[in-house]
Order: sequence, then structure tokens, then C-alpha cells
Amino acid sequence: MSTPLLDVTNVRSGYGAVEILRGVSMQLHAGELVALLGSNGAGKTTLNNVLSCVLPAWAGQVHFDGQLLTGQSYTQVVRSGLIHVPEGRKIFPNLSVLENLQLGAYARARERREHNLAIALETFPRLKERLSQLAGTMSGGEQQMLAIGRGMMAEPKLLILDEPSLGLSPLLVEELFGLIQKLRASGLTILLVEQNVGNALHLSKRAYVLEHGHIVKSGPSADLLSDPDVQRSYMGL
Ligand code: ATP
Repeated sequence: MSTPLLDVTNVRSGYGAVEILRGVSMQLHAGELVALLGSNGAGKTTLNNVLSCVLPAWAGQVHFDGQLLTGQSYTQVVRSGLIHVPEGRKIFPNLSVLENLQLGAYARARERREHNLAIALETFPRLKERLSQLAGTMSGGEQQMLAIGRGMMAEPKLLILDEPSLGLSPLLVEELFGLIQKLRASGLTILLVEQNVGNALHLSKRAYVLEHGHIVKSGPSADLLSDPDVQRSYMGL
């Protein structure tokens, strides 16, 4: 098999003296949509923060697109094409939708800003109708679309979506997952971090389950969907 686009080996990390990630390994190949699942406090956001170099790894390594990411700065990570859409969206509420989108191209792909803006607006037509609206006045679902659209402005080689369905109504979750499916079909490589296990497994090809800082299960999403432990622990079946 080809070299993975993202290769995480034995990563340990945490906060202060508290170890949260206890030797996490995972791989993702170009073109894949892989889900990272786990309940509250499992360490999903902590792992994302290590991948984005916001938090240092205490041990282990992260390779992305053939480069060692461990020890680099957040800006270098963004420049390399690993784009993280954080949990809670983190849009700029007092800037317009257009300004938020334009900021997505600040550190990468600035010269292709107009081209990528057209692609983002085509993917999320709701944003097109609201370009001059203050981002903070948009609904939760629209803000999530804006956060993903802003990520797309940087022409990601890998887009990490951290709990995009959090706080959205079931109808909006369905719409959002449909849009993520569209992004995948366009060839984008996506790591989908979710607590909404059923939807994430339906959408992804493979998945990893993180518990207490360990990967406890991994494999084809179809297998995990029919795994009794997964059904019991995460899907209330
Ligand atoms: P959720 O789905 O609830 O967001 P998660 O899987 O993303 O959960 P993390 O946010 O990575 O989990 O948290 C893992 C553990 O690390 C938790 O016990 C949390 O309290 C702890 N933690 C997270 N951030 C910090 C921090 N800045 N300082 C100390 N502990 C932290």
C-alpha cells in the first residue's frame, strides 16, 4: 500500500503531569474519509491539538505528507496543508461571512483565494446568500458550514473536522453529513472526529475508536457498525 498521508505513531501527550494520550497510532491515506470516534473526554480533541502542533507530543511522531510534523509550529502545519476545523467552530463573530472566509486563506493558498472562494460558496450555497452578514448572527448550522468553508479556503490536503455535528438539530446534522459526503466525493481527504457514531460510521470507510487515550478498536466502518461492543457503548442498541 502507498505511504500514508498522515502517519501517527505511538503518540503520548497530556496537560501538566496528566497523561491523556497513552500511545496512539493511526494512519490515513490520501482520498480516504476516516472517522475518529470516542465518548466525552476520550482524548479526541487532545489528539487533534497534537496533530496541529498546538500541544506538544511527549513521545512518538506525526508524519504528514512525508514530513515530520512533531516539533513544528501551528503555522507550519497549516502551510503544509493540514487544516483543522476546531470543535465549537471558532469563527470571528464580529466579522462578516466573507471576511471569515478570506481569513482562511491567510497562511496558505492566498493567491488562489478567489478560485477557492467560488468552490466554498458552491459547496455551501447558504453562505453565498449571507456574505455580508456578521458571522456571529448566523445560526449554529450556518456557523459550522462557515467554519468548514473557511477551512476549504486553505486548500487542505487533509481536513480535520472536530465534532462538526455538536449542538445541531437532527435535520441540520443530516444536511451537514450530506455536505461532508459531497466533500469526500470531490476527493478531499477527511478525518471526521465525532461522537455521533452511527452517522460517522455510515459516512466513513474506516474508523478508529479512542477510549482513555488508547485506540481500542479500528477497522472498516461496516465492521464496526455491526460490532456489538460499538453498538452497545456508542449507539444505544
Ligand atoms: P469531547 O468529546 O468531550 O470534546 P474529547 O475526546 O475531545 O472529549 P479531550 O477534550 O481531548 O476529549 O479531553 C481529554 C481529557 O483531557 C479530559 O479529561 C479533559 O478534562 C482533559 N483536558 C482537556 N484539555 C485540558 C487542559 N487544557 N488542561 C487540563 N486537562 C485538559
